[in-house]
Amino acid sequence: MDVRRRQTKTPQSVKIATAEPPMKPHNHPLPKASDVLPLPLYLINGLFFTMFFSVMYFLLTRWREKIRNSIPLHVVTLSELAALVSLLASIIYLIGFFGVDFVQSVIYRSNEDAWDVEEEENEKFIIEEDSRMGASPATTLGCAVPVVPIVPAQPTKVPVTENPAPIITPQSSEEDEQIVNSVVEGKTPSYSLESKLGDCKRAASIRREALQRITGKSLEGLPLEGFDYESILGQCCEMPVGYVQIPVGIAGPLLLNGTKYMVPMGTTEGCLVASTNRGCKAIYASGGATCTLFKDGMTRAPAVRFGTAKRAAELKFYLENPLNHETLSVIFNKSSRFARLQGIQCAMAGKNLYIRFTCSTGDAMGMNMVSKGVQNVLDYLENDFPDMDVIGISGNFCSDKKPAAVNWIEGRGKSVVCEAIIKEEIVTKVLKTNVTALVELNMLKNLTGSAIAGALGGFNAHASNIVSAVYIATGQDPAQNIESSHCITMMEAVNDGKDLHISVTMPSIEVGTVGGGTQLASQSACLNLLGVKGASKELAGANARLLATIVAGSVLAGELSLMSAIAAGQLVKSHMKYNRSSKDVTKISS
Ligand code: ADP
Repeated sequence: MDVRRRQTKTPQSVKIATAEPPMKPHNHPLPKASDVLPLPLYLINGLFFTMFFSVMYFLLTRWREKIRNSIPLHVVTLSELAALVSLLASIIYLIGFFGVDFVQSVIYRSNEDAWDVEEEENEKFIIEEDSRMGASPATTLGCAVPVVPIVPAQPTKVPVTENPAPIITPQSSEEDEQIVNSVVEGKTPSYSLESKLGDCKRAASIRREALQRITGKSLEGLPLEGFDYESILGQCCEMPVGYVQIPVGIAGPLLLNGTKYMVPMGTTEGCLVASTNRGCKAIYASGGATCTLFKDGMTRAPAVRFGTAKRAAELKFYLENPLNHETLSVIFNKSSRFARLQGIQCAMAGKNLYIRFTCSTGDAMGMNMVSKGVQNVLDYLENDFPDMDVIGISGNFCSDKKPAAVNWIEGRGKSVVCEAIIKEEIVTKVLKTNVTALVELNMLKNLTGSAIAGALGGFNAHASNIVSAVYIATGQDPAQNIESSHCITMMEAVNDGKDLHISVTMPSIEVGTVGGGTQLASQSACLNLLGVKGASKELAGANARLLATIVAGSVLAGELSLMSAIAAGQLVKSHMKYNRSSKDVTKISS
């Protein structure tokens, strides 16, 4: 069960908190000096106001009499002296109270303007959440402990400058409570919980609670239950505290190379699945798409340095000499039964050499595999090139998770081209546009517009939308969407200008069906849906290659649909602007 309360510093304030009903944050009274009074404020104020005005009236009357009788004002009687003292006391009270409260509220509000908007929102969240939890003992944290009444804290006595109080959820056992405290106090490193406890779920639960107490922020909404924490240990994620939920939508069937695929897309972008689905429909109705994979090799490029550029060049000649390829392959391929060295490409920068190894990696995306092979070769090279200084196993000529021309030109992972001929009536009926408009839009937007923008592999409408969504659903590395989304979309009118030929060429799709996040239950289910789960039984790498073609086919569908939507929108706008509604729309773009 999940019980939280706002922790305050003193036992007394905790007691106050437990006695009070939940408060709405916008009703929080500012901490005031008047809070310390023993009697109700209105009674004390009334008393002092009455005293102030009575004494003033008395003194004014006395002073008028003195003026009339020519008595000096500084000659005071005992009653006048008492009245003056009373006046002074009431003035001090009034200034003290209203003045301090006013100054405090000004300080508080100026701080609030500067930084406290978010805090206030968070506080609101925590308090509202607490009031809900009080009514219904939820099981968000999954801790099997007895129900404890929820007691929201009373924030009025908290000094304005104090940090938000931590959230406390009682742990399922005294031992867990002690471990949480130990993590909070910094005595037990959070990262060591899995190895110390030998129970990944329990470790995540304790870490999560410690995090809430340390930060004072609630993790309500981030689920803990329903996830296999053992499955990510040492492979996918360190120091877990829960998992993020992403909806998975389905686009399809995507008819690709004669086979239908229902494509899972993990996304929170509305319309993306619907739009891709519309593209699939247009492709299907036109007889399907054809996809060809023309390259398959993962790369890794270490950087090495020599005392002279001449020595660096000598290594370049050695590595690129075809006569040495077999020897180097044997050494490289020791890394895995699936790793097969394909080639080595070197780039020089003075005394520094960047060595780009390319290898096939079976059904794995292959980064680990290629890195191990590269390390084998570097170790071997130390014999003939002892003066070689290895700067790093990755020298960025690879190039992983960064936009780089080398991937766009040479390819990385799977290089794929996917095409379809969309019939004229499908363009009109399903895509609500026409071939001429699409071809012109593609030329001006995806080719010319991207050239104007200085694009690097970005000659498309939204390839990364589809790539990212399929990657998330199927357990690929989402960061590799950068180079995997490199895509040039081409469109031209065919069959006497009636039909549309559309293609997407994607030189660096980095996917795998084993390793990484692909083995997690939900991602594995999505791979299973596509028929590419795990290692291919027929031919090593066949599943990963098929997945790459499905990614490209889905991108084709996405491009078709979005470009059509834009083309249709442009036509409508053109009509409105130029009043050409009476003209043949197919000629507008010609
Ligand atoms: P990556 O190299 O993509 O980071 P991993 O190294 O995590 O992937 O996963 C690849 C592992 O899977 C290797 O240990 C490899 O031996 C194993 N494996 C099993 N079957 C295959 C296969 N068909 N293709 C590639 N690797 C496979």
